[in-house]
Amino acid sequence: MSDTSDSCIFCTIVAGEVPAEELGRNDRAIAIKDLNPQAPFHALVIPVDHHENAAASAAADPATIGHLVSLADEVAKAAGNADYRLVANTGAGAGQTVFHTHLHVLAGSLGMTERL
Ligand code: 5GP
Ligand code: ZN
Repeated sequence: MSDTSDSCIFCTIVAGEVPAEELGRNDRAIAIKDLNPQAPFHALVIPVDHHENAAASAAADPATIGHLVSLADEVAKAAGNADYRLVANTGAGAGQTVFHTHLHVLAGSLGMTERL
């Protein structure tokens, strides 16, 4: 399944139409550096298929979340971060600004809301 949206910034990045600093990929997702890092290490892990949030991706294909977590672990450790935080903002009220599923991978300090 390939579900994309022309107006979605992450779909354009996945398609290679907008440049991003890529950290890794698997067959279902890519990892890039966040444009506006909130921690010393701040990556985004983005599924290729467009869904508006992690729950929608999980509903469409439960395996997607496993692929995201595996890639997050890989890129964090490749950058020397055995310890890291994963964040999936869901809804504008929780700070979501890009409505294409993504995991924030934060390391080097707690980042974002510090200690929840
Ligand atoms: P959200 O607020 O939706 O949870 O996270 C969206 C994230 O995407 C933000 O941390 C923001 O800095 C990042 N972002 C938005 N546009 C771009 C872009 O064009 N390139 C990259 N690398 N990151 C982006
Ligand atoms: Zn998209």
